[in-house]
Amino acid sequence: MVNIGAASTTRPGQVGLGVSGLTVAYDGPPVLVDVSLGVDPGEIVALLGPSGSGKTTLLRSIAGLEKPASGSVSLGERIVSDHRVFLAPERRRVGMVFQDGALFPHLDVSRNVAYGLPRAERSSDRVTEALRMVGLESMAHRMPGSLSGGQRQRVALARALAPRPGVLLLDEPFSNLDATLRLQVRAEIHQLLVGLGITTLFVTHDQEEAFVVGDRVAVLRDGQIAQVGTPDELYLRPADRWVATFVGDANLFPISSHGETCATPVGTVPLSSPPGGPSEVLLRPEDLAVTDGDDGTVELVEYYGHDAMVVVRLDDGVAVRARTAADLPFSRGDRVGVAYAGSGAIVLPV
Ligand code: ADP
Repeated sequence: MVNIGAASTTRPGQVGLGVSGLTVAYDGPPVLVDVSLGVDPGEIVALLGPSGSGKTTLLRSIAGLEKPASGSVSLGERIVSDHRVFLAPERRRVGMVFQDGALFPHLDVSRNVAYGLPRAERSSDRVTEALRMVGLESMAHRMPGSLSGGQRQRVALARALAPRPGVLLLDEPFSNLDATLRLQVRAEIHQLLVGLGITTLFVTHDQEEAFVVGDRVAVLRDGQIAQVGTPDELYLRPADRWVATFVGDANLFPISSHGETCATPVGTVPLSSPPGGPSEVLLRPEDLAVTDGDDGTVELVEYYGHDAMVVVRLDDGVAVRARTAADLPFSRGDRVGVAYAGSGAIVLPV
């Protein structure tokens, strides 16, 4: 049985990661501003944000590859970077895996893994231990070119694990794999990380990937943390409109009343809390039921197998997205009704 409540069962050698008030600039204005984030021992946190939001910069700052302008980074009890201390990357006990794995094509698997170790520690025991951790001991003498994309990423992981790091940093480790392989490798590596119980910060721009792999997800926007929470907290209680739309499909309507319900294009909806000022109401597609009725016309059907997404153009011109069960009693062009089916909609300040 896998223990996801990682923090409650710290294993020997596990350390947490702490980032506090980190500001990082290259030549111009800062690309990370006052970023604070904690990863508990053994926890997997996904760092999610659009391209250019500063994810890689944060990872590189934690690894010691960039020098922050201010703020601190600590690994367990040890401060590795602040206004006085700046430990070199190799002294931080941090393992890093990049997008493409970056294996040396002319070195076999074991020599690629050994490369991750300081010269004096390149013993075959450490290499074998790391290969065993990723289930590749039998491939020690294969060349990278003869491995599948997933195996190559596992070798890259073994290389990062060989020095027994306290924390693992993964930068978009699946993005160079094709769609089918990607899901399979993702599931494999996820299982492996949970099994090893290693503290992991994992960068992705893909919301689904962040939700699937992360125990918690930190959302980065324009160099600042927009929200940190478990996947369900982010999905069900997003901090604002931007997070709401970044982590899922959202129907958003302005609220023009002050009470516990509000009028929307799909009828009157109960609110989970009364609006405190100018606000919008968030209706997720699964909060809407498509019924027999005459509110609008089915404009688009996206069929996923386990469910379907239906776009209905209401007669007042507004389009809404509704998630429906897999057996579809209607198709494009049909007239349907749309009703709110949730138990209280989230109110977002604007
Ligand atoms: P992400 O990983 O979220 O795509 P990055 O951390 O790579 O974001 O980049 C954040 C911002 O910093 C971007 O505007 C990018 O252009 C800039 N940036 C990244 N690396 C450098 C660099 N070496 N020199 C100057 N600007 C950089």
